Amino acid sequence: MSETITKTYSTKELLKRFVPYLWKYKRILFMDLFCASLTTLCDIVLPRIMSQLTNTAMYDPLSLTVELVGKMALFYIILRIVDAAAYFFMCSQGHIMGVYIETDMRSDAFDQLEKLSDSYYANTKIGQIMGRITSDLFDVTEFAHHCPEEFFIAFIKIVVSFVILCYASVPLTILIFACVPFMIFGSIKLNHKFRAATKEQRVQIGELNAQVEDSLLGEKVVKAFTAEDTELKKFANGNEQLKTIKKKRYYAMANLNMCIRLFDGLMYSVTIIAGGLFLVYGKITAGDLVMYMLYVSTLIATIRRLVEFAEQFSQGITGIERFFEIMDTPIDIKDAEDAKELEVSGGEIEFDNVSFEYPDDHNRVLYELCLKIKSGENLALVGESGGGKTTMASLIPRFYDVTSGAVKIDGQDIKKVTMKSLRENIGIVQQDVYLFSGTVAENIAYGKPGATREEIIHAAKLAGADSFITELKDGYDSYVGERGVKLSGGQKQRISIARVFLKNPKILLLDEATSALDNESEILIENSLKKLSVGRTTLTIAHRLTTIQHADRIIVLGKTGIVEEGNHEQLLEKKGVYYRLWNGIALEEVGDRKST
Ligand code: ADP
Ligand code: MG
Repeated sequence: MSETITKTYSTKELLKRFVPYLWKYKRILFMDLFCASLTTLCDIVLPRIMSQLTNTAMYDPLSLTVELVGKMALFYIILRIVDAAAYFFMCSQGHIMGVYIETDMRSDAFDQLEKLSDSYYANTKIGQIMGRITSDLFDVTEFAHHCPEEFFIAFIKIVVSFVILCYASVPLTILIFACVPFMIFGSIKLNHKFRAATKEQRVQIGELNAQVEDSLLGEKVVKAFTAEDTELKKFANGNEQLKTIKKKRYYAMANLNMCIRLFDGLMYSVTIIAGGLFLVYGKITAGDLVMYMLYVSTLIATIRRLVEFAEQFSQGITGIERFFEIMDTPIDIKDAEDAKELEVSGGEIEFDNVSFEYPDDHNRVLYELCLKIKSGENLALVGESGGGKTTMASLIPRFYDVTSGAVKIDGQDIKKVTMKSLRENIGIVQQDVYLFSGTVAENIAYGKPGATREEIIHAAKLAGADSFITELKDGYDSYVGERGVKLSGGQKQRISIARVFLKNPKILLLDEATSALDNESEILIENSLKKLSVGRTTLTIAHRLTTIQHADRIIVLGKTGIVEEGNHEQLLEKKGVYYRLWNGIALEEVGDRKST
């Protein structure tokens, strides 16, 4: 389905690939770790102070003076002030470092998404991608600084308290610490399950996003077919699935946390029993027992924090995994190593023995097609729907690569030139126009970044768009709405033509540019297109034959490839497929005739 990549990554592999992102901010990272060690100092020192006070009170009451207490208190207060400052740094800069990393990763992901070809988007749901580059990467922020910090703090606390406790009693310390590996091992094991559940949840949320997006974008169709109930059922299905998955995840979480609590109990029990017995037999002092109790609390708090962090860790790792899934999607259409700039003189296009099938379903669409479109020629392509006209046009700007053969522009194989130089020379006007949310002027300027207002207005005039634009409330600065919903089909089309005027390419592809329009708009737009095609090599695809009767040459594309070729008059005289199309004889009949 939408999840085309099923590769699973090990945590180690993911971490290894994540390190370069982290390493870029190593200065903040080391400062963060330094601050982390300062904050742990307070936690470690407190039990020592308490045990010293207790021991002094019990075994040397005479030295227990106000001065001693004052000294210890002052020492502790200074530590706490340092702790506050260090904590502030960790909390602000640590998180900000995470944000830097997240931003870097997001821009890398977006860069990769821009490079992925049409066939990726034909098979991936946008909602899934959205989730990956927003919420998933947000979890990486948390992960980025907490991961090193938490492990570091835990490491210091465990090692230092172990050493200090050994001074009091080695056997008791070993006895208590013997519980720690079990605790860590158990939680890692359970955490594994938790991570799997987290990932499943993520995928399902993406799926649900995609579903909502699909329904909302098709809102008009839903209403027109009164399909609200069907949509609701589809949604309820996904929603229900998410519920099940979330429940499963919470069970995994409960298991994990319960286990940790049990271990807490175990450690306290060992301290009470063993510590009590050691005290009875005079192996440790009362102060030592206080110290043990306090260190065990710290230890337990640390391990709890680690486990809490395990949730963040699992989310962060999942986010990183989903990020690398995007990054690892192969880019199937890219510049050749030695790609040159395309040099366009006249804009001659040649299909040299081109065969093509769509990469994922292997339906042969074009077979050994040979066709030359001369410089400046206006060539029309007609034929039944699904015959491969759009496909043929999409091979020219390399939206897809030919399966075999070559497409050449002015003699240069388009696979051997840079994509940028190739696409810069091609203008496309299609049936459905995509306008970006923004103003009319911004949308026209898409054809030429940095275009001046004069250039934009000039292009709009050429496209016959100026008159309606100036009538809009804010003229060229009118907001077009998301996808241009505030404009009519004809208006959108004229804006898209103005874009191409501004771009001023040598080659023009017109794919059913007027098909979705009413008669009046069609006439207006045809005039604009006629002007646009002057001096450019033009490939016009149309199903309304009246729109192409003045083309220099007309090609009829059938299932077997090119079936007829000539200008309007010649083709009518032939009384073949074109003649039948022109006279409105059903397409199926044409198909039948061809196959006989
Ligand atoms: P036309 O423009 O002549 O109506 P198309 O070029 O759009 O025809 O489609 C030609 C054939 O290719 C059709 O059978 C269609 O189902 C198939 N096709 C079109 N786009 C894709 C795609 N993205 N993936 C797979 N098959 C496709
Ligand atoms: Mg088409």
